[in-house]
Amino acid sequence: MGKKIGMKYLIDQLRKEHKLMSDQYRALLTVRDPQVTEYLFTQAREVAQAQFGKGIFLRGLIELTNVCRNDCLYCGIRCSNSNVSRYTLTREQILDCCEQGFKIGFRTFVLQGGEWGEERSTWIADLIRDIRHRWPEYAITLSLGEHTRETYAMWREAGADRYLLRHETHNERLYRLLHPQGMTIQHRLQCLDWLKELGYQVGAGIMVGSPFQSLNSIVEDIMYLADFKPHMIGIGPFIPQHDTPLARFPAGSVDMTARLYAILRLALPQALIPSTTAMATLSPDGRLRGILAGANVVMPNLSPTDNRSKYALYDNKASFGAESAQGIQQLSDDLSTIGYHIDWSRGDSPHL
Ligand code: SAM
Repeated sequence: MGKKIGMKYLIDQLRKEHKLMSDQYRALLTVRDPQVTEYLFTQAREVAQAQFGKGIFLRGLIELTNVCRNDCLYCGIRCSNSNVSRYTLTREQILDCCEQGFKIGFRTFVLQGGEWGEERSTWIADLIRDIRHRWPEYAITLSLGEHTRETYAMWREAGADRYLLRHETHNERLYRLLHPQGMTIQHRLQCLDWLKELGYQVGAGIMVGSPFQSLNSIVEDIMYLADFKPHMIGIGPFIPQHDTPLARFPAGSVDMTARLYAILRLALPQALIPSTTAMATLSPDGRLRGILAGANVVMPNLSPTDNRSKYALYDNKASFGAESAQGIQQLSDDLSTIGYHIDWSRGDSPHL
C-alpha cells in the first residue's frame, strides 16, 4: 500500500515539476502494479487533453526512397541488404501523393527515406520548393537522416518546417552496437542541435527494446529528451527484420513504449508525440493504447501502394487499413471508440 502511494506521488511530482531523478524514472518504467500504471496513463491523458483536447493530429507519410547509404544493424533497408528491391519515387509521384493527401484533408506531410549523399540534396530542395509553391498552407516535415549543416539550411530555406531525426539511443556504447563504424551519437546529436538552431521544429526519439538496450539506457534517453526539449518525440518498439544481423532478437514491448509516451508527456506537456506504426504493427490496438498513454499524433501512410512493401524497415510493417491514408474512415471510427477524433489542422507545436 505504502509503495503504491509512493509511486502515485512520483507521478504527481512528474506532472507538477516535469522532471524526476533517474532512480525514480527507473521505478516508473518497471512498476508492475496495474493501478499505478493506469494512474500514470490517466495523468498523461489529462495533460495531453489539456494541451490538445481530444483531437489527434494527422501527418501524411510519404516514403520517398528506400535507397540508403547507411548500414544500421536493425534496419531492413540498410545498404548491405541485397534482398531489397530499391526504388525512388519520381517528383511526379511525390506531388501526386501530396495532391491525394490534400484532397483527403491532410495539412502536414512527412517526407521520409533512406539517407542519400549530399550530392542529391538540391533535388530535395527543388522538391520542397515545388510543394511549398503548390500548397503554401502545408507543413513540410523531413525525415531524411544525417546531413551537413549547409544541406539542412538549404532545405529550411526552400520551405521545410520540421525535421524528425530519432537519436535512437543516447548511450554511446549501445549506439556503437547498433550502428556501423563511422556513425556516432555525437554526430547524431550535433545534427539535432543544428536543426534546432536553423529554426526547424525538431523531433528526436528512440527504439524501445532494441537488442542490448538496458533500462539505464532508456532512463538516459528520458533525461536527454527532457533536457533537449524537442518539439516532437518519435518512439516505437524495435521489431526485427529477417534480413538484418538482428533478425533473431525479440521485438520491444507495446507496454514499455506506452509507459514512455506517458512519462514524456508529463515531462514535456506540449510535445507532439505520435503513436507510431510500430505500435500498430505489434498489436491491433497498439495505436489506441499509445493515444490512451498521452500520444496525440498519427502518421497514416500516403506512399503509392505498390511501393509500401519495399519500405520494409521491419517485418510485417503495417501500411494498409487504418495505417493508410485510404483507411482514414477506419482510423476515425477507431478513435471514436475511445472518445477521440481527427484534428485536421496543421498541428504545429504549441511552444513556438
Ligand atoms: N534515414 C532516416 C533516419 O535515419 O532518420 C529516416 C528513415 S529511418 C528508416 C526511420 C526510423 O525507422 C529510424 O529512426 C528507426 O528508429 C526506425 N527503424 C528502423 N528499423 C527499425 C526496426 N527494425 N524496428 C523499429 N524501428 C525501426
